[in-house]
Amino acid sequence: MAAQCFYSCALAGRTSILPSIYPPGAHTTLSSLINGNPMQRSISGFYLDPEHHWVAQLDCYHGQHVRHQPPFVSRPWTQTHAGREAMLGTMLDCLKCERLELPVQLSVYQTTPPFDEHSIPAGLLREHATKAGIWGRIQVDEGILRYVVTAPFQTQRMLHAGDSAPIAPQVLHHIEPVGKVKVRVEFLR
Ligand SMILES: [Zn+2]
Repeated sequence: MAAQCFYSCALAGRTSILPSIYPPGAHTTLSSLINGNPMQRSISGFYLDPEHHWVAQLDCYHGQHVRHQPPFVSRPWTQTHAGREAMLGTMLDCLKCERLELPVQLSVYQTTPPFDEHSIPAGLLREHATKAGIWGRIQVDEGILRYVVTAPFQTQRMLHAGDSAPIAPQVLHHIEPVGKVKVRVEFLR
């Protein structure tokens, strides 16, 4: 099932061939992600911070405050269980994803073998993405690698030996070696 899915991720008229090095189930079936900014995430739950303000737990694992502090900020729905339940699934902009901040509570569950500029799987050089809830982390051991994020937001980083960079779930990206390179990709959830 997983192997079949690696080649079946159509998005908005384009077909993204997902790298076969991705763990089974780590790829995404994207739908509306390339329709531009901002980075939207779905509310999957709520918790109280130490100051007893409500925080929305997003499906990217980031938290986002949804304070109710009238008259400055009014979110009366946060004050009841039923009100919060009704907001599950609502989409919020996640700036932490756009800043490629790796959520702290994640742990690595799989790592690719090290690749060099010749052995990098072709799928990593083309646009691809991980599915909801799956983060990646590029680890450059030698050389230089360009990391390009294309949708739903755009950013680029030049990664040098010793650098790492998070890959946010469902965010289209690719990598480009700049000369000789050794690189691994970790998967976290
Ligand atoms: Zn996020």
